[in-house]
Order: sequence, then C-alpha cells, then structure tokens
Amino acid sequence: MTAAQHETGMFEAVNRRFDRAAAYCRQPPGLLNQIKECNSVYRVHFPVVGDDGDVKVVEGFRAQHSYHRTPTKGGVRYAPNVTEDEVVALAALMTYKCAIVDVPFGGAKGAVRLDRRTVSTGFRERVTRRYTSELVNRNFIAPAIDVPAPDYGTSEQEMAWIADTFRALRADTLDDMACVTGKPLALHGIPGRREATGLGVYIGIERAMQYRDEMDRVGLTPGLAGKRVIVQGFGNVGYHAARSFQEEGDARVVCVAEIDGAVYNPGGIDIFDLYRYRNETGTIRGFGGAETLDDPMAALELPCDILIPAALENQITSENAPRIQARIIAEAANDPTTPEGEAVLLQRGVLIVPDVYLNAGGVTVSYFEWLKNLSHVSFDRMTARHEAATAARVLDAVEQLTGQKFDPAHRATLTATPSEFDFVRSALAQTMTEAYDYIHETWKSLDMPDTRTAAFYYAIEKVAAAYVSQGIFP
Ligand code: NAD
Repeated sequence: MTAAQHETGMFEAVNRRFDRAAAYCRQPPGLLNQIKECNSVYRVHFPVVGDDGDVKVVEGFRAQHSYHRTPTKGGVRYAPNVTEDEVVALAALMTYKCAIVDVPFGGAKGAVRLDRRTVSTGFRERVTRRYTSELVNRNFIAPAIDVPAPDYGTSEQEMAWIADTFRALRADTLDDMACVTGKPLALHGIPGRREATGLGVYIGIERAMQYRDEMDRVGLTPGLAGKRVIVQGFGNVGYHAARSFQEEGDARVVCVAEIDGAVYNPGGIDIFDLYRYRNETGTIRGFGGAETLDDPMAALELPCDILIPAALENQITSENAPRIQARIIAEAANDPTTPEGEAVLLQRGVLIVPDVYLNAGGVTVSYFEWLKNLSHVSFDRMTARHEAATAARVLDAVEQLTGQKFDPAHRATLTATPSEFDFVRSALAQTMTEAYDYIHETWKSLDMPDTRTAAFYYAIEKVAAAYVSQGIFP
C-alpha cells in the first residue's frame, strides 16, 4: 500500500490513538493539545550531483515533535514515497515511545526521498552529507538539540557519514560524536545497538507471553518455545527479531516475507542460513529450505501464532485483517496496523503488542550510546574488573565457610568479566520488561480496550508531568 492509499492519514491515526487514551487522563485540554502538536518541521530541497554528472534535486525532512525534553531523538529513513505527514507521525510516535521506556528525549524523525536500491553508494554518501549540513545550518542536529539514528533504508554507514560531516562542521564541539547514534563500533558506537530493536521485540513478546490469563484469552500456551512465527521484512529489525525468536525463544520461524516475495516452510526456516543465502544472492527468493511465494502480502495470512510486521506502515488493514490467522501481532515496524485493521483484529480477540512500546529497544540502546559518547568512556571500562574481583571474593568466602570448592568452570562463569554488551543487554531487558509490566497493569486495572491505549496513556501522563514541572501548565 502506498502513502496515497492510507486508510487514515498517519498523523491523524496517531492522534486518534492519542485521543482514545487521553479520554482516561485527567489533564486539561490545552495541555493535551500541546502534547499532540508537532513543535517544528524542517523541509528542504538540496542539489546533489548524480553519478551521470547531472544535478539532482533531493527532498529531505526533519520533524521535532516535542521539546518537553531535549534533545529530540528519532531515526532518519530513506524511502522513495516518504511524506511530511509520515515524518510528523513517526516523530510523534517517538515522543510517546521515549516516554514509555523512560529515556530523556522528545520525539523526532527525519527522512530523505530516496530509494537506496536504485542509487550508488557514492550518491547516497553525497546525499547524506548534504542533508546533514542542511540540518547543521538550521540547528536541527547537535548532541543537545536533536540526535538522529538509523531507520528504514539507513544503516550504520549513513550514521558514520552524518557523524563525520557534523565533526567537520563543528570541530570545536567536544561531544560531537553524540550528535547521532547507531554508529559503527569503530566510530564510537555501542555493542548491541545494531540488534537492539529486533532483540527488544523478542524481549517484549516473551514478556507478554508470560501472562497466563492473556494467553488463555488468545488461545495460546504461555512461552515462546515451538510457536510459529511469520516475519515481514528481513532488514535490520526483521532479521534480528527473527534470529532472537529462533535462537533465544526456541520458536519456529515458518515464513519470511521480503519486498520481492516470501519463503515459507511450515516445518521452520533456519534464519542464519536464510541470512547467508540473501547476502550471497541479494534476495530470499529461491532459498532451498522453503517454498518461494510470489506475493509477499499473502505471507501475512498464512497459519502462525505470532505475526511480526517489520517492514513499513499500513500493512494490516481492514481488507486483510479478517484473514490474518496470527493470535499475536508483534508490531516491530512503526504503524504497521491501520486503525481500521486494528478494530477488526481487536474484535477477533487478537493481542496487538503496539509499536509505540515494542520497537523501543532501538531508542533505548541509542540512549546508552549517547550517554557513552557524552561521558567519553565505555560502560564496562570502569567497573568490569572490579565486579569480577568482588565476585571472586564472595566465592572465596563461600568456599571458606562451606569447606567446599566450586568447580573451575562454574567459578569461571560466576567471576566472568561483564562486557559492554552484557551491560547493554541486561539494561535493555530490564527496560523492556518493566515497561510491558506497567502497560499490562494499566490496561487491566483501568479496564482499557487494548494495550495500545494503555501504552499511550502511560506516555501522555509522563509527558504531561514534564510540562507541568516546567511551570507552563498549572
Ligand atoms: P531496513 O531498511 O533495514 O529493512 C526493511 C526491510 O523491509 C527491507 O529489507 C525491505 O526490503 C523490506 N520491505 C520493504 N517493503 C516490504 C514489503 N512490502 N514486504 C516485505 N518486506 C518489505 O529497515 P529497519 O530499520 O529494519 O526498519 C523496519 C521498520 O522498523 C520500520 O518501520 C522502522 O521505522 C522500524 N524501526 C526501526 C528501528 C531501527 O532501529 N532500525 C527502530 C524502531 C523502529
């Protein structure tokens, strides 16, 4: 479905969901309106020399939805049909997402109208550097102002170009590397950021499936082991979600859909083999371990327990929702379900774990990267050896008291030096789990119709509290 075919405009859809949740809040209308509106939008056209020597005019956007906390934060997407409405909607979602996982940012989003599949790396680099300098010139990027990250169609490479361009233009800024997150490790990135969103999706669903009453309601047993999973989109989020469901959750990924087709095997697809195959051939089509389907949208309707849309918005609509067989929709992508599609699914008793919470793993680990860049030291450097030594002293004391020795392998595990990835991973798990528990409790205790309303309610209350604490609203 293209932007023009949306059932409801994207920003309007976000605001409808906001209004549904706001009805449960006791906040004054003026405050609610201020929270809803987008604070600033920058739209720019800039010239870039194409590979053929002709100048191309490229369109870019950056929306900063809320200044209740600064800097603002949100990804930059490269997509050929991206619209201002979409960017503003995604920036608004970022505001609520940051509040839900308790990271101290307002929401933002950026975009460039570009199909990365049809342009050279050199052109992408020129576009990225020029887009960054436009943002620098208008004060729409800086460690304390607005901090981009990867999103659909962008990767660590684009983040590296953004950081390098910012550094070139702001050489006097000590914290320059905190101007963008999702950077490569070699350029002050953080271990775990690449997989953070997909891993967060896994952690969130794993938590949701521990609530027995809810699983009884949707007709599934608690826990992920053996559950059938379909993943739409085999990019950063989809791949890392799929591998976590397979590797950590022992679930069975039965179908993966990509832009040019899908692969299906009810017995399960090995995600690592599929990843290697796609890297070698450039497509998932023809993968030996599965049947290739021509229509990727048909994949959403195949038999499964959990459907993970991890590609783009507006994939589940009132048209296909009646045929979707999954009992849980894990919204890894932003806004994959239209309000009309959602109504059908809710009426059929499907559990929707909403994007505004479920894909927040990326911004959570981006927060850790930003903190690391501001402090100029990695998380493990100051504490890891000390923690290992403390653990060893505790084990020594236990051995002395009991007169028994730990076997060497067990001792090595208990005194292992935690890596920076270990810190990131445990903090991500804590954040995602706590946030889900809060959403679940709110949903049930306030007798709300669904998890999305509960998630928005939580976000609105937190943003409102920030505004009130600033003394602007009574
Ligand atoms: P990506 O560009 O790495 O991957 C997206 C994949 O989806 C691509 O492989 C693309 O070919 C595929 N795709 C496009 N249209 C499709 C279709 N109709 N059917 C099947 N596959 C299709 O992007 P990403 O970073 O993985 O982002 C995916 C979604 O997750 C987006 O909605 C994005 O906003 C959201 N998200 C990403 C992050 C992040 O950290 N990257 C964080 C939060 C949310």
